[in-house]
Amino acid sequence: MKVPFLDFQAPYLELKVELDAAYQRVMASGWYILGKEVEAFETEFAAYCQTKYCIGVGNGLEALHLILQAMGIGAGDEVIVPANTYIASWLAVSQVGATLVPVEPDEKTYNIDPSLIENAITDRTKAIMAVHLYGQPADMDAINEIATRHNLKVIEDAAQGHGARYKNHRVGSLGDAAGFSFYPTKNLGAVGDAGAVTTNNAELADKIRLLRNYGSRVKYENEIQGYNSRLDELQAAFLRVKLAKLDEWNARRGKVAEQYLKTLCENTNLTLPFVPDWAKPVWHLFVVRHPTRYDLEQHLQQNGISTLIHYPIPPHLSAAYKRAVCNFDSFPITELLSKQILSLPIGSHMNDRQIEAITKNLLEYI
Ligand SMILES: *Cc1c(COP(=O)(O)O)cnc(C)c1O
Repeated sequence: MKVPFLDFQAPYLELKVELDAAYQRVMASGWYILGKEVEAFETEFAAYCQTKYCIGVGNGLEALHLILQAMGIGAGDEVIVPANTYIASWLAVSQVGATLVPVEPDEKTYNIDPSLIENAITDRTKAIMAVHLYGQPADMDAINEIATRHNLKVIEDAAQGHGARYKNHRVGSLGDAAGFSFYPTKNLGAVGDAGAVTTNNAELADKIRLLRNYGSRVKYENEIQGYNSRLDELQAAFLRVKLAKLDEWNARRGKVAEQYLKTLCENTNLTLPFVPDWAKPVWHLFVVRHPTRYDLEQHLQQNGISTLIHYPIPPHLSAAYKRAVCNFDSFPITELLSKQILSLPIGSHMNDRQIEAITKNLLEYI
């Protein structure tokens, strides 16, 4: 039996009628950029995230970049970021010219370790970026407490966390602003690039609205030097259809995770994801650890099961950052994780036979 890592066909077929209708509605409207669909999606996604504002932008990286820009963070400022994250979290900080200060993850949650943040703060620190990696919320109370004490902004990279909850509050509502990605593989995915910012700060929301559209509120009146980073009508229309299904699809991912955790829990050399009491994750990825990760990966592949690694090269070891003259210390926990992690297939449309095939083959190996 073959188990692909991702399945785009089944989600499309489940919503085909609604998605096709959304396509026809936008095509017939003759209005393709910043119109009714984007406005409606922004209202609906803000409500979903329990925030006052949502601003649709071009992609997740741009969401983070525009947040930093709107906060006035730039050259000479320092931003604390997780050492263990997807490189986009770092690139956003580099794009505004600020200095990255990476902090190691907690070894159990893989998210930034709040107990190490305070040591990394200097008088140039302006913000802490928290990433809800793999759909597991970061420890936001601890992070916000430190930020308040040092007068720092808190930015959430929520690109993997749509719908996740921290102590009953939705991800995206837990800092000063959050960046979301709707890249097709994310829990809420468009059929191309798309992203959004959520925030409760009216001034920040207004600034980001300007920045995403050439610094312009009224056509041909440019208040500031902006960018072109807009969510388009077609993607917004598709996202509205899928947003209505997000909780149900996240719940189905949760069922797959539950089955993995139940079936695989007896084993010792396979480390399963850890979920703290305060977390309600959305299982963007189901990441296990194993000392001989590549052999395990091969064994599964030989049996038709595709896995991926998120991520094989930590940002500080990537050519992009090694070449830039950055004097990063080593990050032993991040480096060890990158050598041992393996992402098992997880999705809203997996069936029991697929899950059984995966767990059976895993148990055979470990
Ligand atoms: C996907 C992702 C991004 C970037 O999103 P894009 O839409 O691809 O630009 C940023 N951060 C994290 C953690 C991501 O997973």
